[in-house]
Amino acid sequence: MDLLTVIRDVPDFPKKGIVFKDITTLLQKPEAFNFALNEFVQYANAKGIEKIAAIESRGFIFGGAIASKIGAGFVPIRKPGKLPSKKISESYSLEYGTDTIEIHEDAIRSGEKVILHDDLLATGGTMQAAIKLIERLGGIVTGISFLIELDFLKGRELLKGYEIQSLIHY
Ligand code: AMP
Repeated sequence: MDLLTVIRDVPDFPKKGIVFKDITTLLQKPEAFNFALNEFVQYANAKGIEKIAAIESRGFIFGGAIASKIGAGFVPIRKPGKLPSKKISESYSLEYGTDTIEIHEDAIRSGEKVILHDDLLATGGTMQAAIKLIERLGGIVTGISFLIELDFLKGRELLKGYEIQSLIHY
């Protein structure tokens, strides 16, 4: 199945010059959703992992479904101020300014194997911060999965040394 055909390009969103990759057009088609989910599940199953950690908010859509299918725990990595219990944070730079993501301290136990998941790899800054969170808790990042990778932004170079699965490339 060609997943490229079910992603919608939205020019100048959220700001001028950005072509936003809208995945809602894929999500509303069950055959496309299930095709993508099965690809993620096959990859994760082969890794023998304990946890899927996904990044708010679009990462949660497939992240939760993958965890359920493979019988792994689901761990949300969230924007600041959303997680209620004790947590750790990582900040990373954006084009203008910085952003922060957080994880509960007790979400990963030392030595647990983890797959990180998000909808899209652009510059890689968000995923690099997520890797730091998992590793600070003693987790082992065994793989990283994305629905979409924007190859021309070379985010992969920032994630060197980690195995990456991307279903759609631009
Ligand atoms: P980055 O940290 O640059 O790799 O950005 C990745 C995060 O930003 C992901 O959580 C994406 O959801 C979001 N993102 C960045 N660029 C786009 C884009 N062109 N279309 C949709 N989402 C994007």
